[in-house]
This record gives sequence, C-alpha cells and structure tokens, in this order.
Amino acid sequence: NLLNAAHYLLSAHNSRQLPIDEGHEVAFAGRSNAGKSSALNALAGHNALARVSKTPGRTQQLVFFEVRPARNLVDLPGYGYAKVPHDLQAHWQAFIQGYFNTRQALKGLVVVMDIRHPLKDYDRQMLGYAVQRGIPAHALLTKADKLGRGQQMQTLQAVKKSLFADFADSVSVQAFSAESKQGVEEARAVVSNWLEL
Ligand code: GDP
Repeated sequence: NLLNAAHYLLSAHNSRQLPIDEGHEVAFAGRSNAGKSSALNALAGHNALARVSKTPGRTQQLVFFEVRPARNLVDLPGYGYAKVPHDLQAHWQAFIQGYFNTRQALKGLVVVMDIRHPLKDYDRQMLGYAVQRGIPAHALLTKADKLGRGQQMQTLQAVKKSLFADFADSVSVQAFSAESKQGVEEARAVVSNWLEL
C-alpha cells in the first residue's frame, strides 16, 4: 500500500497558507458524517490521518497529508453543517472554490457519500466544480456494510446512471466500507494512479 506513508503536513485556512502549488494532490470531500475520515484512514491503512482533521478548529481548514514530497492527500472540510454561520459558509465556499478553480496540483477529487444517502446537492456541486475544470472525480459509496449485497448493487447502478447522465465518463463510482474494508484496494488504485505514485 503506497498510501501507507501518508502523514500530516499542514493545515490551511486561507490561500496564503497552502503549500506550493506543485506536484500532485487528490482532494477528499463529503458531507459531515458521511465517513470521509474513516475512508482516509482505511486508504492509508492507519488511523493517524483523520484524527488531525477532526481536531476542533481544523474542521474549517484544508488539511494536507503528505504521501511523499509533492504528493499530497487533501482533506476538505465536511459540508452540510446546518448550524455553520452564514458568513463562515460563504468563506468556506470562496476558499474551496478558489482552490478548485486555480490549483494546478489538483489531479483528482474523491467524494465520500453514505451509500444510504448518495448524491445530495453539495455532492453534485463538488463533482461539478471538478468536472468543469477537467479534473476527474471518484465517488465512494461508503458504509456499504450497512446494506445487503442486493441493495448495494441497486444503489451503485442508480448512482452510476445518474452520474453518467450529468458527467459522462469524468466521474467513476464504487461501493466502499471502512468497516469491512470492502473496496479499499480499488479506491487505493484510483488515488495512487492520480498521484502517479
Ligand atoms: P466524517 O465526518 O465524514 O469524517 O465521518 P467519520 O469518518 O467520522 O464517520 C462518521 C460515523 O460513521 C462514525 O461513527 C463512523 O464510525 C461511521 N462510519 C464511517 N465509515 C463507516 C463504514 O464504512 N461502515 C460503518 N458501519 N460505519 C462507518
């Protein structure tokens, strides 16, 4: 597992704090509680990553994990907090949108969605940002262990169809579980490929 070397690099809450825009990075997005931290930990194969992202005060920052120099995983703040004040929501939008619009190192986006509640508005918006810039995206339908195989397949097919209608081949999708480790190898392959590890 090439992602095993991932370790905390820095947190940025504005564009001046971002690391130099070079090399390759893959960003992870998802609604709060979708399972993004657990997915990051499962991909790295250890629990050191998301503990950092969950530190109070860092929840509104971009958290960078370095796999090796100029090869980063970027944990985007969870979206969909009902209680985030409006101006913070606006700052978040501007910062993330700026990052998406200009970041040269950004080579791929992973959107983590609970398989029981896929493709909410913000999820589509994130995918749209990436696709608009020609950056490929991969959707993880996580917590797949919560559904039986039949229901998993049904959801996967429905999501595939919907994504294809909106984004053609720019977005791929798979079932995933940090709990059972289902789909971990498949997701690692996608991320490692984007990072050119
Ligand atoms: P985040 O807010 O998106 O980073 O979500 P977390 O990774 O903290 O997960 C939110 C909750 O969902 C936690 O209680 C996790 O234990 C649970 N969870 C995350 N991934 C899975 C999974 O694959 N299967 C199951 N059953 N629970 C999960």
